[in-house]
Amino acid sequence: EHKEKLEFVKNHIDSYPDFPKPGILFRDLFSVLRNPRAFHALQDVMIEHVSSQLTPKPEVIVALDSRGFLLGPLLALHFHIPFIPIRKRGKLPGDVTRVSFALEYGTDIFEIQSLSLGSGQNVLIVDDLLATGGSLNAACQLVNQLQATVLECLVIMELVYLKGRDNVKAPVHSLIQF
Ligand code: AMP
Repeated sequence: EHKEKLEFVKNHIDSYPDFPKPGILFRDLFSVLRNPRAFHALQDVMIEHVSSQLTPKPEVIVALDSRGFLLGPLLALHFHIPFIPIRKRGKLPGDVTRVSFALEYGTDIFEIQSLSLGSGQNVLIVDDLLATGGSLNAACQLVNQLQATVLECLVIMELVYLKGRDNVKAPVHSLIQF
């Protein structure tokens, strides 16, 4: 049943060649959200994964701006645990912890609110897609800077041929592979 739901979700992912630039095959999470049955199946498989395949259980859900924000809260509400955002620099109020990471051209900065994680907490990081792994690894660094532990990075889609999981210093689980 889990496998059938995953197949159903995968069949609802639209792909756009050369978006947002030449050579990129864009995998569109929003085409899943557009279909309530596909979105519900996606929620089910995420919850089933955390319930049956992840130990110990996460105490906090951390997600990446912006598509991670559509997924993380589904788990946080279901498991009744906090949802914590990671955003690009300058978007989060109060004391923040930051990390800079390399992009194709230049660098970027991610931030997390310093009060949002407690030392030793077990964190599940959620995002829509793993490409090079640069974003997820930066997210792991932020969690570690607040003395918390990354149990796993959960992504809906993994572009396996980019070997991005080798760049992430935490276990990575993907629901759908391309
Ligand atoms: P990366 O840091 O290279 O692993 O890139 C991951 C982020 O970029 C994810 O948050 C995705 O939303 C986005 N992304 C990268 N490549 C694609 C793609 N082919 N289709 C859709 N989103 C992508």
